[in-house]
Amino acid sequence: MIDNRKVLLLNSDYRALRFVTWERALRLMSREKVDIVSHWEDTIIRSIDGKIILPSTLRLKNHVRYYRKGPLKFSKLLIKKRDRFTCQYCGETRRSSLTIDHVIPKSRGGPTDYENCITACYSCNNKKNNRLLSETNMRLLNKPQNPIYDIYYGLYPSREQHPDWKMFLN
Ligand SMILES: [Zn+2]
Repeated sequence: MIDNRKVLLLNSDYRALRFVTWERALRLMSREKVDIVSHWEDTIIRSIDGKIILPSTLRLKNHVRYYRKGPLKFSKLLIKKRDRFTCQYCGETRRSSLTIDHVIPKSRGGPTDYENCITACYSCNNKKNNRLLSETNMRLLNKPQNPIYDIYYGLYPSREQHPDWKMFLN
């Protein structure tokens, strides 16, 4: 369970930087690089310093310069991360069966970009084939979005979301 729990790392100005593992969070805390903003109240960790409550959000004491580079390069891995490794048609999560599907097929002019490409399992991809969604009875679980407008690169959290993160993301 603890491995599902990521820790959101904020810059000193409270802008979200990325998610880190709890191990990394503990290292940042022991080096006194961060302040604790919020906790996973129900998760206690035993460390050499005794028991501590797992933080859910940390803020760096020193500002790091962070450049958001132009539009993100197309990446199949980032699409799968955005879609949380879940087929956007049927919800399949077996990673070995996941492929990238063009919602508007390439053969019908659909672009290869973040708004037209989604994660689909092999069988849904096959089933949809070269058809438009409107020509099938399939539906998307989520509208595909450009991750740069969504949240920062690498900022796809674990399955469990902490309610306090909402104010820092977007
Ligand atoms: Zn599927």
